Amino acid sequence: MLGEQIIKGMAVTARNFFESYVSKDRLTTVQYPEERLPQKGNTRQFPFLVYDGDDWEKGLRCVACQICEKECPPKCIYIVKSKDKKPDYKGQPQIYPLRFDIDISVCMSCSICVEVCPFESIKMNTEFELSTADRFGGLLFTKEQLAKPNSYYQKVHPNDAAESDAVIASEKAKAEAKAKAAAEAKAKAAAAAAATAATPVPPATTT
Ligand code: SF4
Ligand code: SF4
Repeated sequence: MLGEQIIKGMAVTARNFFESYVSKDRLTTVQYPEERLPQKGNTRQFPFLVYDGDDWEKGLRCVACQICEKECPPKCIYIVKSKDKKPDYKGQPQIYPLRFDIDISVCMSCSICVEVCPFESIKMNTEFELSTADRFGGLLFTKEQLAKPNSYYQKVHPNDAAESDAVIASEKAKAEAKAKAAAEAKAKAAAAAAATAATPVPPATTT
């Protein structure tokens, strides 16, 4: 019947309105900021950079590959690469971001930077209370402000963080197995060379 759904909707609204005086479950709003609703698991606001361990500078996963900078639609990521290298979580020397800024006033929370990052380095934060009187400098976040420990990521996005941890553990295991195989092959080659050097050369015969 025409209008049936409208009447049903109005009935729900009326029920919520009157019953909210006696039942808190019928309240569809909260008294923010005193009251807050728990955030949903997939809530995303603005990006942050993940680091491992206690030292944010040493532990930053970002290797300054600049893929996120290139792919960001409104171009609000700015990266300056280092000239030297530091070991990554696999122990391999990698360049790192000397500078990594995100202009949060421009970011549109699309999460493309997260999707394209091959190093589990940039993730979406759930923090949204970022208002500031300084419209420009106050919303230009540097790498110090963007860096958060992996424990923070595990807290705000437990499922995604568990997947990231599994990817990193698997990459680490592969790198260790490769390094072990290379060391064994090197030791084998050295032993073979030593055995060849120790074999006496037979004297030359004359006819
Ligand atoms: S969330 Fe989107 S707009 Fe924001 S920094 Fe990442 S890619 Fe750029
Ligand atoms: S956050 Fe990821 S994609 Fe962006 S520069 Fe760092 S490693 Fe590359």
